[in-house]
Amino acid sequence: MTAAPHYRRVAVIGLGLIGGSFARALRKHGLAGEIVGGDGSRAVCDKAVEIGFVDRATTDLAAAVAGADLVLVAVPIGAYGAVGEAIAPALEPGATVSDVGSVKQAVVRDLGPLIPEGVHFVPGHPIAGTEHSGPEAGFAELFEGRWHILTPPPGTDEAAVERLAALWRACGSNVEVMDPGHHDKVLAITSHLPHLIAYTIVGTATDLAEDTKSEVIKFSASGFRDFTRIAASDPTMWRDVFLNNREAVLEIIQRFTEDLTALQRAIRWGEGDKLFDLFTRTRAIRRSIIEAKQA
Ligand code: NAP
Repeated sequence: MTAAPHYRRVAVIGLGLIGGSFARALRKHGLAGEIVGGDGSRAVCDKAVEIGFVDRATTDLAAAVAGADLVLVAVPIGAYGAVGEAIAPALEPGATVSDVGSVKQAVVRDLGPLIPEGVHFVPGHPIAGTEHSGPEAGFAELFEGRWHILTPPPGTDEAAVERLAALWRACGSNVEVMDPGHHDKVLAITSHLPHLIAYTIVGTATDLAEDTKSEVIKFSASGFRDFTRIAASDPTMWRDVFLNNREAVLEIIQRFTEDLTALQRAIRWGEGDKLFDLFTRTRAIRRSIIEAKQA
Protein backbone atom coordinates (compact mmCIF):
# COMPACT_ATOMS: atom_id res chain seq x y z
CA MET A 1 0.00 0.00 0.00
CA THR A 2 1.39 3.45 -0.88
CA ALA A 3 1.45 6.06 1.89
CA ALA A 4 -1.16 8.84 1.69
CA PRO A 5 0.22 12.01 0.08
CA HIS A 6 1.17 14.45 2.76
CA TYR A 7 2.19 18.10 2.99
CA ARG A 8 3.90 19.45 6.09
CA ARG A 9 2.05 22.77 6.13
CA VAL A 10 -0.81 23.76 3.81
CA ALA A 11 -1.89 27.39 3.51
CA VAL A 12 -5.42 27.96 2.20
CA ILE A 13 -6.02 31.54 1.01
CA GLY A 14 -9.76 32.27 0.88
CA LEU A 15 -11.74 30.38 3.54
CA GLY A 16 -15.11 30.19 1.79
CA LEU A 17 -16.97 27.26 0.24
CA ILE A 18 -14.10 25.76 -1.77
CA GLY A 19 -11.14 26.69 0.46
CA GLY A 20 -13.10 25.56 3.53
CA SER A 21 -14.13 22.28 1.89
CA PHE A 22 -10.54 21.56 0.85
CA ALA A 23 -9.25 22.21 4.39
CA ARG A 24 -11.98 19.94 5.81
CA ALA A 25 -11.07 17.18 3.32
CA LEU A 26 -7.36 17.45 4.28
CA ARG A 27 -8.36 17.11 7.94
CA LYS A 28 -10.72 14.21 7.32
CA HIS A 29 -8.10 12.19 5.45
CA GLY A 30 -5.06 13.32 7.51
CA LEU A 31 -3.24 14.82 4.51
CA ALA A 32 -1.50 17.81 6.15
CA GLY A 33 0.62 18.35 9.28
CA GLU A 34 -0.75 21.85 9.80
CA ILE A 35 -3.45 23.84 7.99
CA VAL A 36 -3.09 27.62 8.04
CA GLY A 37 -5.86 29.88 6.77
CA GLY A 38 -5.57 33.29 5.15
CA ASP A 39 -8.54 35.51 4.31
CA GLY A 40 -9.20 39.20 3.76
CA SER A 41 -11.89 39.15 6.44
CA ARG A 42 -11.05 38.90 10.17
CA ALA A 43 -14.55 37.53 10.87
CA VAL A 44 -14.05 34.74 8.29
CA CYS A 45 -10.67 33.85 9.85
CA ASP A 46 -12.25 33.67 13.33
CA LYS A 47 -15.13 31.53 12.03
CA ALA A 48 -12.74 29.09 10.30
CA VAL A 49 -10.78 28.60 13.54
CA GLU A 50 -14.01 28.26 15.52
CA ILE A 51 -15.36 25.59 13.15
CA GLY A 52 -11.94 23.97 13.35
CA PHE A 53 -11.01 23.32 9.71
CA VAL A 54 -7.79 25.38 10.10
CA ASP A 55 -5.28 25.32 12.96
CA ARG A 56 -4.85 29.10 12.78
CA ALA A 57 -5.88 31.90 10.44
CA THR A 58 -4.74 35.42 9.66
CA THR A 59 -5.61 38.37 7.44
CA ASP A 60 -1.84 38.80 6.83
CA LEU A 61 -1.58 36.64 3.70
CA ALA A 62 2.24 36.69 3.61
CA ALA A 63 2.32 35.35 7.17
CA ALA A 64 -0.22 32.67 6.21
CA VAL A 65 1.94 31.23 3.41
CA ALA A 66 5.31 31.52 5.23
CA GLY A 67 6.81 28.05 5.65
CA ALA A 68 4.02 26.31 3.73
CA ASP A 69 4.96 23.56 1.26
CA LEU A 70 1.52 23.85 -0.41
CA VAL A 71 -0.48 27.04 -0.95
CA LEU A 72 -4.02 26.84 -2.34
CA VAL A 73 -5.54 30.10 -3.57
CA ALA A 74 -9.36 29.94 -3.26
CA VAL A 75 -10.54 33.54 -3.71
CA PRO A 76 -12.67 35.01 -6.56
CA ILE A 77 -10.63 35.37 -9.79
CA GLY A 78 -10.75 39.19 -9.62
CA ALA A 79 -8.74 39.08 -6.36
CA TYR A 80 -5.87 36.95 -7.75
CA GLY A 81 -3.59 39.88 -8.63
CA ALA A 82 -3.78 41.36 -5.10
CA VAL A 83 -3.39 37.95 -3.44
CA GLY A 84 -0.43 37.06 -5.70
CA GLU A 85 1.36 40.31 -4.86
CA ALA A 86 0.80 39.77 -1.15
CA ILE A 87 2.01 36.16 -0.99
CA ALA A 88 4.81 36.09 -3.61
CA PRO A 89 7.64 37.49 -1.42
CA ALA A 90 6.85 35.01 1.38
CA LEU A 91 6.68 31.79 -0.69
CA GLU A 92 9.12 29.08 0.36
CA PRO A 93 11.50 27.73 -2.37
CA GLY A 94 10.30 24.25 -3.42
CA ALA A 95 6.70 24.97 -2.36
CA THR A 96 3.76 24.38 -4.73
CA VAL A 97 1.17 27.09 -5.43
CA SER A 98 -2.17 25.93 -6.78
CA ASP A 99 -5.67 27.37 -6.96
CA VAL A 100 -9.30 26.43 -7.57
CA GLY A 101 -10.41 29.23 -9.91
CA SER A 102 -13.17 28.43 -12.40
CA VAL A 103 -11.22 30.04 -15.28
CA LYS A 104 -7.67 28.94 -16.06
CA GLN A 105 -6.07 31.13 -18.78
CA ALA A 106 -6.62 34.29 -16.70
CA VAL A 107 -5.07 32.58 -13.68
CA VAL A 108 -1.97 31.63 -15.66
CA ARG A 109 -1.88 35.23 -16.93
CA ASP A 110 -2.44 37.01 -13.56
CA LEU A 111 -0.79 34.72 -11.03
CA GLY A 112 1.89 32.98 -13.12
CA PRO A 113 4.28 35.94 -13.52
CA LEU A 114 4.18 36.64 -9.77
CA ILE A 115 5.35 33.15 -8.74
CA PRO A 116 9.08 33.27 -7.89
CA GLU A 117 11.71 31.02 -9.47
CA GLY A 118 11.98 27.73 -7.58
CA VAL A 119 8.28 27.63 -6.60
CA HIS A 120 6.07 25.17 -8.52
CA PHE A 121 2.91 26.64 -10.07
CA VAL A 122 0.15 24.09 -10.74
CA PRO A 123 -3.25 25.77 -11.33
CA GLY A 124 -6.34 23.62 -10.80
CA HIS A 125 -10.13 23.60 -10.85
CA PRO A 126 -12.43 21.27 -8.90
CA ILE A 127 -15.58 20.54 -10.94
CA ALA A 128 -17.58 20.61 -7.74
CA GLY A 129 -19.50 23.29 -5.91
CA THR A 130 -22.81 24.54 -4.62
CA GLU A 131 -24.73 27.82 -4.76
CA HIS A 132 -23.67 28.58 -1.16
CA SER A 133 -20.61 30.54 -0.07
CA GLY A 134 -18.64 31.43 3.04
CA PRO A 135 -16.78 29.41 5.70
CA GLU A 136 -19.89 27.63 6.98
CA ALA A 137 -20.93 26.39 3.53
CA GLY A 138 -18.09 23.88 3.04
CA PHE A 139 -18.00 20.14 3.69
CA ALA A 140 -15.24 17.52 3.43
CA GLU A 141 -17.10 15.33 0.92
CA LEU A 142 -17.59 18.06 -1.72
CA PHE A 143 -14.90 16.68 -4.04
CA GLU A 144 -15.75 12.99 -3.77
CA GLY A 145 -16.42 11.41 -7.16
CA ARG A 146 -15.88 14.78 -8.89
CA TRP A 147 -13.28 15.75 -11.48
CA HIS A 148 -10.32 17.92 -10.63
CA ILE A 149 -8.62 19.53 -13.63
CA LEU A 150 -4.95 20.57 -13.33
CA THR A 151 -3.49 22.98 -15.90
CA PRO A 152 0.28 23.16 -15.22
CA PRO A 153 2.19 25.45 -17.62
CA PRO A 154 4.66 23.66 -19.94
CA GLY A 155 7.89 22.72 -18.15
CA THR A 156 6.32 22.40 -14.68
CA ASP A 157 8.11 19.88 -12.45
CA GLU A 158 6.30 16.56 -13.00
CA ALA A 159 6.87 15.31 -9.47
CA ALA A 160 5.16 18.44 -8.09
CA VAL A 161 2.17 17.89 -10.40
CA GLU A 162 1.90 14.21 -9.45
CA ARG A 163 2.16 14.97 -5.74
CA LEU A 164 -0.69 17.48 -5.98
CA ALA A 165 -2.75 15.12 -8.16
CA ALA A 166 -2.29 12.40 -5.51
CA LEU A 167 -3.55 14.81 -2.85
CA TRP A 168 -6.75 15.56 -4.79
CA ARG A 169 -7.25 11.84 -5.43
CA ALA A 170 -6.94 11.27 -1.69
CA CYS A 171 -9.73 13.86 -1.25
CA GLY A 172 -11.90 11.66 -3.50
CA SER A 173 -11.44 13.42 -6.87
CA ASN A 174 -10.60 12.03 -10.29
CA VAL A 175 -7.76 14.10 -11.72
CA GLU A 176 -7.18 15.14 -15.33
CA VAL A 177 -4.42 17.35 -16.74
CA MET A 178 -5.52 19.80 -19.45
CA ASP A 179 -4.35 22.82 -21.42
CA PRO A 180 -5.80 26.03 -19.82
CA GLY A 181 -7.32 27.27 -23.10
CA HIS A 182 -9.07 23.96 -23.67
CA HIS A 183 -10.34 23.99 -20.06
CA ASP A 184 -11.86 27.45 -20.56
CA LYS A 185 -13.69 26.36 -23.75
CA VAL A 186 -15.09 23.20 -22.16
CA LEU A 187 -16.22 25.03 -19.03
CA ALA A 188 -17.78 27.85 -21.08
CA ILE A 189 -20.35 25.37 -22.39
CA THR A 190 -20.72 23.02 -19.41
CA SER A 191 -20.82 25.61 -16.64
CA HIS A 192 -20.56 29.26 -17.63
CA LEU A 193 -23.34 29.35 -20.26
CA PRO A 194 -25.81 27.40 -18.05
CA HIS A 195 -25.23 29.92 -15.26
CA LEU A 196 -25.75 32.81 -17.67
CA ILE A 197 -29.01 31.27 -18.91
CA ALA A 198 -30.21 30.78 -15.33
CA TYR A 199 -29.35 34.37 -14.42
CA THR A 200 -31.24 35.53 -17.54
CA ILE A 201 -34.40 33.50 -16.93
CA VAL A 202 -34.64 34.44 -13.27
CA GLY A 203 -33.88 38.07 -14.16
CA THR A 204 -36.63 38.09 -16.79
CA ALA A 205 -39.13 36.62 -14.31
CA THR A 206 -38.13 39.22 -11.73
CA ASP A 207 -38.82 41.99 -14.23
CA LEU A 208 -42.35 40.74 -14.93
CA ALA A 209 -45.39 42.54 -13.53
CA GLU A 210 -46.10 41.93 -9.82
CA ASP A 211 -49.17 39.64 -10.28
CA THR A 212 -47.27 37.31 -12.65
CA LYS A 213 -44.28 37.27 -10.32
CA SER A 214 -46.25 35.74 -7.46
CA GLU A 215 -47.45 32.99 -9.80
CA VAL A 216 -43.89 32.39 -10.97
CA ILE A 217 -43.00 31.55 -7.37
CA LYS A 218 -46.20 29.57 -6.74
CA PHE A 219 -45.77 27.34 -9.78
CA SER A 220 -41.95 27.27 -9.76
CA ALA A 221 -41.77 23.46 -9.52
CA SER A 222 -42.63 23.27 -13.20
CA GLY A 223 -38.98 23.91 -14.23
CA PHE A 224 -38.16 27.41 -13.05
CA ARG A 225 -37.08 26.18 -9.60
CA ASP A 226 -33.94 24.44 -10.92
CA PHE A 227 -32.83 27.68 -12.55
CA THR A 228 -33.35 29.67 -9.34
CA ARG A 229 -30.91 27.38 -7.52
CA ILE A 230 -28.19 28.05 -10.10
CA ALA A 231 -29.05 31.76 -10.23
CA ALA A 232 -28.54 31.97 -6.45
CA SER A 233 -24.78 31.40 -6.97
CA ASP A 234 -22.29 33.92 -5.64
CA PRO A 235 -22.48 37.23 -7.61
CA THR A 236 -18.81 38.17 -7.10
CA MET A 237 -17.51 34.80 -8.23
CA TRP A 238 -19.69 34.74 -11.34
CA ARG A 239 -19.04 38.34 -12.33
CA ASP A 240 -15.33 37.48 -12.26
CA VAL A 241 -15.84 34.25 -14.26
CA PHE A 242 -17.56 36.11 -17.12
CA LEU A 243 -15.08 39.00 -17.13
CA ASN A 244 -12.16 36.54 -17.21
CA ASN A 245 -13.44 33.98 -19.71
CA ARG A 246 -14.76 36.60 -22.11
CA GLU A 247 -13.68 35.17 -25.48
CA ALA A 248 -14.81 31.57 -24.86
CA VAL A 249 -18.13 32.67 -23.33
CA LEU A 250 -18.89 35.15 -26.15
CA GLU A 251 -18.15 32.44 -28.73
CA ILE A 252 -20.48 29.97 -27.04
CA ILE A 253 -23.25 32.57 -26.62
CA GLN A 254 -23.07 33.14 -30.39
CA ARG A 255 -23.53 29.40 -31.07
CA PHE A 256 -26.31 29.18 -28.49
CA THR A 257 -28.16 32.18 -29.96
CA GLU A 258 -28.10 30.58 -33.42
CA ASP A 259 -29.46 27.30 -32.04
CA LEU A 260 -32.17 29.15 -30.09
CA THR A 261 -33.18 31.02 -33.23
CA ALA A 262 -33.44 27.68 -35.08
CA LEU A 263 -35.79 26.41 -32.35
CA GLN A 264 -37.80 29.62 -32.52
CA ARG A 265 -38.21 29.05 -36.24
CA ALA A 266 -39.23 25.40 -35.76
CA ILE A 267 -41.93 26.47 -33.29
CA ARG A 268 -43.15 29.23 -35.62
CA TRP A 269 -43.46 26.85 -38.60
CA GLY A 270 -44.88 23.96 -36.60
CA GLU A 271 -41.88 21.71 -37.30
CA GLY A 272 -42.63 19.21 -34.54
CA ASP A 273 -40.22 16.58 -35.88
CA LYS A 274 -37.29 18.98 -35.43
CA LEU A 275 -38.28 19.67 -31.83
CA PHE A 276 -38.86 15.97 -31.13
CA ASP A 277 -35.48 14.98 -32.61
CA LEU A 278 -33.58 17.52 -30.50
CA PHE A 279 -35.42 16.61 -27.28
CA THR A 280 -34.67 12.91 -27.93
CA ARG A 281 -30.95 13.61 -28.40
CA THR A 282 -30.74 15.75 -25.25
CA ARG A 283 -32.49 13.07 -23.21
CA ALA A 284 -29.69 10.64 -24.16
CA ILE A 285 -27.08 13.13 -22.85
CA ARG A 286 -28.81 13.11 -19.48
CA ARG A 287 -28.64 9.31 -19.41
CA SER A 288 -24.90 9.31 -20.13
CA ILE A 289 -24.28 11.84 -17.32
CA ILE A 290 -26.15 9.56 -14.89
CA GLU A 291 -24.15 6.55 -16.15
CA ALA A 292 -20.90 8.52 -15.59
CA LYS A 293 -22.10 9.15 -11.98
CA GLN A 294 -21.92 12.95 -12.48
CA ALA A 295 -25.66 13.57 -11.97
P1 NAP B 1 -16.49 32.13 -1.30
O1 NAP B 1 -17.26 31.11 -0.54
O2 NAP B 1 -17.09 33.49 -1.46
O3 NAP B 1 -15.06 32.30 -0.59
C1 NAP B 1 -14.07 33.18 -1.05
C2 NAP B 1 -13.33 33.76 0.15
O4 NAP B 1 -12.22 34.55 -0.33
C3 NAP B 1 -14.19 34.68 1.01
O5 NAP B 1 -14.03 34.36 2.38
C4 NAP B 1 -13.63 36.06 0.69
O6 NAP B 1 -13.75 36.96 1.76
C5 NAP B 1 -12.18 35.76 0.43
N1 NAP B 1 -11.51 36.82 -0.33
C6 NAP B 1 -12.01 37.57 -1.34
N2 NAP B 1 -11.10 38.44 -1.78
C7 NAP B 1 -9.98 38.26 -1.02
C8 NAP B 1 -8.71 38.86 -0.99
N3 NAP B 1 -8.36 39.85 -1.84
N4 NAP B 1 -7.82 38.42 -0.06
C9 NAP B 1 -8.13 37.45 0.80
N5 NAP B 1 -9.34 36.83 0.82
C10 NAP B 1 -10.26 37.23 -0.09
O7 NAP B 1 -16.11 31.62 -2.77
P2 NAP B 1 -15.91 30.13 -3.33
O8 NAP B 1 -17.20 29.64 -3.86
O9 NAP B 1 -15.17 29.31 -2.33
O10 NAP B 1 -15.00 30.45 -4.60
C11 NAP B 1 -13.61 30.58 -4.50
C12 NAP B 1 -12.97 30.22 -5.83
O11 NAP B 1 -13.36 28.89 -6.18
C13 NAP B 1 -13.37 31.13 -7.00
O12 NAP B 1 -12.22 31.48 -7.74
C14 NAP B 1 -14.29 30.25 -7.83
O13 NAP B 1 -14.17 30.55 -9.21
C15 NAP B 1 -13.80 28.85 -7.51
N6 NAP B 1 -14.82 27.78 -7.62
C16 NAP B 1 -16.04 27.96 -7.07
C17 NAP B 1 -16.99 26.94 -7.18
C18 NAP B 1 -18.37 27.10 -6.58
O14 NAP B 1 -19.28 26.33 -6.91
N7 NAP B 1 -18.61 28.05 -5.70
C19 NAP B 1 -16.68 25.75 -7.83
C20 NAP B 1 -15.39 25.57 -8.36
C21 NAP B 1 -14.46 26.61 -8.24
P3 NAP B 1 -14.97 38.06 1.71
O15 NAP B 1 -16.23 37.27 1.67
O16 NAP B 1 -14.76 38.83 2.95
O17 NAP B 1 -14.76 38.85 0.44
